Amino acid sequence: MPEHSDGQLAFDFDAMAREDARARLDEWEGAPLGLTRDYFTPARFDEAFEHWKFLNGSLGSWKRSHMWHREGWNGAGTEFGEHRGEIFGAELSPEDGHEGPGGMLTQMICEPCDWHVIAEDDNTAVEAWHDHAVPGWRELPVLPAAIRVRDGGATLSKLAMKWITERYPQHMQVPGAPIITERSSPGTRHVHHYSPWGGYDLSHTALERPAAPEVSSRAPRRELPPFVPASPSGQSRQAGPDLSR
Ligand SMILES: [Zn+2]
Repeated sequence: MPEHSDGQLAFDFDAMAREDARARLDEWEGAPLGLTRDYFTPARFDEAFEHWKFLNGSLGSWKRSHMWHREGWNGAGTEFGEHRGEIFGAELSPEDGHEGPGGMLTQMICEPCDWHVIAEDDNTAVEAWHDHAVPGWRELPVLPAAIRVRDGGATLSKLAMKWITERYPQHMQVPGAPIITERSSPGTRHVHHYSPWGGYDLSHTALERPAAPEVSSRAPRRELPPFVPASPSGQSRQAGPDLSR
């Protein structure tokens, strides 16, 4: 606790509130104040991380807390139809008993569906969300590297725009829809908000990897019954919005 002086009344008030909150930690009912693989909504992760920072200070909070947080450059989500994908990161540490490249995890959450995926890198999580939310994205034409995609910034060149609008199906020229562009290493990161419709600009390298089996679970409260193969008619089971909770 800092020393009291008249000039520090406001600060002391914060410190007292913090001490109070620390004393009441067992009453915390939000998302866990540490790493979790359970499903929570983006708002609850935000709330929990804010609470952690209130308790422990912001400095180095990503590394110290191991909590899910937004990174500035990809803070806002991507909406496509009824879906809204939001991306979070978490930093691991050796003492967590986890290993992984860079000690990072990425999570993409689709709150309207109570869906999430946890992966060891951003691209994998982004691809899994597209598999979930944007059926058919893997069939989209790949914009060749020979066409200059941008002249700088997010705006596509006229040539690239013409190439895409002539070849992409109309239903994929809608808000939140992705484009796929040919890239070369190391520029193979999927970049959100860089499609002409505010969706992702996906690196073509995504297509070199098949649709991944889901590496995460859905929200426990919407756990589906055991998998039932598609019926002979070819109709696959849809996870509709009316699933019992
Ligand atoms: Zn969804």
